[in-house]
Amino acid sequence: MASLSTATRIVHRESVEPTRRLKADICVVGAGIAGMSAALQAAKLGRKVILVDSQAALGGQAVNSIIATFCGLFSNGTHGYQFTYGIADDILNYLESQDQAIFYRHGPNTTVVYYDEVALGRWVEQSVLQAGIQPLMGAILSDVEVVDGRVNRANFMTRYGAVSIEAEGFVDASGDAALVYQAGFPCREPAEKGVFGTQMVVLENINEDHQPTKQLISERMKERGDAYGLRRREGLGFTIPGRGIVAMNMTHVETPLDPVEASIKALEGKEQASRAVDFLKREFPECFGQARIRAFGLPGIRQTRWIVGRHHLTVDELTSGHFFDDAIARTAWPIELHDHDDGHHWITFDEDHVHYIPLGSLVPAECHNVVAAGRCIDADSAALSSVRVMGPCIAMGMAAAYALDLARGGSVQNIDVAAMRERVKDNVEQHHYRWSEADLAKKVLA
Ligand SMILES: Cc1cc2nc3c(=O)[nH]c(=O)nc-3n(C[C@H](O)[C@H](O)[C@H](O)COP(=O)(O)OP(=O)(O)OC[C@H]3O[C@@H](n4cnc5c(N)ncnc54)[C@H](O)[C@@H]3O)c2cc1C
Repeated sequence: MASLSTATRIVHRESVEPTRRLKADICVVGAGIAGMSAALQAAKLGRKVILVDSQAALGGQAVNSIIATFCGLFSNGTHGYQFTYGIADDILNYLESQDQAIFYRHGPNTTVVYYDEVALGRWVEQSVLQAGIQPLMGAILSDVEVVDGRVNRANFMTRYGAVSIEAEGFVDASGDAALVYQAGFPCREPAEKGVFGTQMVVLENINEDHQPTKQLISERMKERGDAYGLRRREGLGFTIPGRGIVAMNMTHVETPLDPVEASIKALEGKEQASRAVDFLKREFPECFGQARIRAFGLPGIRQTRWIVGRHHLTVDELTSGHFFDDAIARTAWPIELHDHDDGHHWITFDEDHVHYIPLGSLVPAECHNVVAAGRCIDADSAALSSVRVMGPCIAMGMAAAYALDLARGGSVQNIDVAAMRERVKDNVEQHHYRWSEADLAKKVLA
């Protein structure tokens, strides 16, 4: 038998210098769906990439807030074509191979993909390692060095000490424009009403045979919500068929940028979610009577702070389907603005509608080597509420990588537009149907 290890050694902190100094071509801040797409695409382009996140895990909200559904990936109608390819195909193919993707059509219009967050998390982790990306987890941005409109270095604090990263280009995929804000470039916040977040909760042991409709749940919430102290009065649930599990989206929680307030609201969110579960168990006992809370996601944050880009995407540009010469992504997801306590605006588009996101909305107006991606690009609140869903976030991440790669140490403000157009062509123009007409009924639940 091996002997017990008892030897120890005494250590002292030796210096105040960062524990580690790292260098990369591209540093991506934020490992949510937008940041992971940017990092993976940059690695595919042969660039040396560091992917940083303040959480001790990769995947951002897609994994850790248990969002549970990919939206905005398919065009409207009963047989939608795919809007985003590349990394999106990698994700969907993996989830399908694990039997962890369920394609679902709501009514005549939107097709979404329900996924298992554990499977998506493993895909991210495996993909990052296989691509040779340097992950840095549990690292919070502390300050940024800017010279002549370029971010040269970003500094992070981790539980194991400080880390300083020098890079040719940076992607701000932090959701809150943390990098652009820290660098001192202008940012936007909602001028009047903020946008609510949601505390997601996963219930197990539900009886799927007795599931009430969303409409019935919402009607009952309106009628009886006061008795349970409910704030929001609509219930969205994403059921994984055959598994007795549902991810419930039934709360509206403020998501302030003040650190103390944010902590209080995060706990209030769990209180709200617990009350909503109590409501479900008592009002719909046949379905939820035996249900248990399997997991709370991390606080779900929709819209907080954005960059000021070269282009401010507007709701009129969305509704008119305006095409931009520098379009890099598209979707037809409804305007989904959670700006009031009890519900949200939900404005859908016609079957052949498409709206576009220009590169200008990803590029901070006053900076040469940062591109934003995901829910912190420049748009008005209503426009952002559509384009921040995960389908277009993947395309935005890919575009951020392409743009920084084309800039190669120069300025993202003057990249070769034709070359950029060629790279994003699939995500802007391709009309590929994932299923044949014959397979549609088998592959897409309705
Ligand atoms: C409750 C809820 C339900 C939703 N439902 C859907 C849905 O059904 N389908 C859909 O497609 N979309 C949905 N959305 C929208 C979608 O989930 C988000 O807009 C999308 O996931 C945003 O991705 P992201 O990569 O931009 O940001 P995030 O996933 O928020 O990732 C940002 C990452 O940056 C990190 N970070 C932030 N600040 C710092 C810092 N200072 N230093 C280091 N790291 C930092 C964070 O830890 C985080 O991991 C929902 C959103 C919410 C909140």
